[in-house]
Amino acid sequence: MRENQLDALRQKLDEVNLKLLRLLNERAELAKQIGEVKQKQGINKFDPERERAMLETLVQHNEGPFTDNTVRYLFKQIFKASLDLQQTSQKKTLLVSREKQATDTVVDIKGTLVGAVKPQVVAGPCSVESEEQVFEVARALKEQGIELMRGGAFKPRTSPYDFQGLGEEGLKILRKAADQFGLKIVSEIVNPSDMEMAEQYVDVIQIGARNMQNFELLKAAGAVRTPVLLKRGLSATIEEFLFAAEYILSGGNHQVILCERGIRTYEKATRNTLDISAVPILKNESHLPVLVDITHSTGRRDILLPCARAALAAGADGIMLEVHPNPAVALSDAKQQIDIPTFDTFIKDLRASGLLDQKQV
Ligand code: PEP
Ligand code: MN
Repeated sequence: MRENQLDALRQKLDEVNLKLLRLLNERAELAKQIGEVKQKQGINKFDPERERAMLETLVQHNEGPFTDNTVRYLFKQIFKASLDLQQTSQKKTLLVSREKQATDTVVDIKGTLVGAVKPQVVAGPCSVESEEQVFEVARALKEQGIELMRGGAFKPRTSPYDFQGLGEEGLKILRKAADQFGLKIVSEIVNPSDMEMAEQYVDVIQIGARNMQNFELLKAAGAVRTPVLLKRGLSATIEEFLFAAEYILSGGNHQVILCERGIRTYEKATRNTLDISAVPILKNESHLPVLVDITHSTGRRDILLPCARAALAAGADGIMLEVHPNPAVALSDAKQQIDIPTFDTFIKDLRASGLLDQKQV
């Protein structure tokens, strides 16, 4: 008997739940329409006076058993949800967002895929210094089965007195090595007017951290059809990073790779702080492939392997690192580049972890 009573009450409760749901959605629909009217009239969506008046009316009509405070609390939640609804429906869906494209973008670098099943490694010297240096690194990459070589020809250096790179000459050296060893080249371009020239030599145009918000450069990268590797700015939020990528996509170039390279924090143990959480966040919010630069983020050789593992375990589509035949005499980033024997061991160890076989989702 008692069980029957309980069942009957529960059934009624279920019916009320459904009624409430219908009413809440009816309310949400009205709130959305109000939002659209406000949008057209340029009125602020959040109106605290109106909210206060609605709460007062509700409390005046409250017959219990909920207390006035509970009624206030419950309706504030409803108001907040309606406001969120007005704001999300107003937000433009970004081209970089998962909302716009549910499937992963695969960047096709002349047959080398970034963002597909297999994670990629991008390795090479910080700066192109000579043909001999680049060829030595290219040979090492080839031996390890790595397809993407990096190397800076235009170097955005902190000090104007430091080595600024070989410029177009450097790009020619990279191209020559790539053609000889069957590699693809990633190299940074810093000047919008160099985009077309760069396309003759490089397979991926890199936009460096210091230029992540160089909007003219982003627009120029959007206008070409060569894939772009965009690095996160030194102090850029994830939102700013995605907006920077949006500049490129909105220009018509959809072949964009995002690269987390560490951000500035108070921590001095590493050169920058590798924001591992950015990897799953970017993968959730965007369909673009994500790489992690384990060299510039850490600035340390001794923790490259665990950081590479962490990046891949977190779902990165690959890693980037700096390799130099003789780091001690490198013209830039001498402290953080690894030599070729260390690179060989690093790749073997990373392969042994199985993390390079298949990306982790
Ligand atoms: C680089 O990759 O050569 C470089 C300068 O890195 P970042 O822009 O991330 O500092
Ligand atoms: Mn470097």
